[in-house]
Amino acid sequence: MSEENCVFCKIINKELPAHFIAENENVIVIKDITPKAPVHFLIIPKKHIVDVSQLTPQDRDYAADIVMMAQQLSEADSKQKSFRLVSNNGALVGQSVFHIHFHFLAGTTMAF
Ligand code: AMP
Ligand code: ZN
Repeated sequence: MSEENCVFCKIINKELPAHFIAENENVIVIKDITPKAPVHFLIIPKKHIVDVSQLTPQDRDYAADIVMMAQQLSEADSKQKSFRLVSNNGALVGQSVFHIHFHFLAGTTMAF
């Protein structure tokens, strides 16, 4: 999907509404519209990158800020102390939005 038709680019550009949790220079954090856990956020870089396999050395700051943002979210609420950070890369494993994002999941027991 091109950048022009990308739902996450539209959210980043404030052309589509979303429930914002946090934002910095490189990433936004929104609530997932179809939560799979009591806490389900999406950490999304402000640059349209399709998936992890498309990251380049120039994207280092985005990649770092995704993980550092997960740490900040974890520290923001005791029920987010334990969390799962997961990214689907490719339709075969469930990627449905082709703008890189990491699911931040917390608030329940996760066996797998
Ligand atoms: P994935 O299937 O790993 O690509 O994850 C995409 C996620 O984006 C899914 O969990 C969707 O529920 C979520 N999603 C899709 N559109 C929106 C939206 N407009 N606002 C918030 N979350 C969304
Ligand atoms: Zn995009």
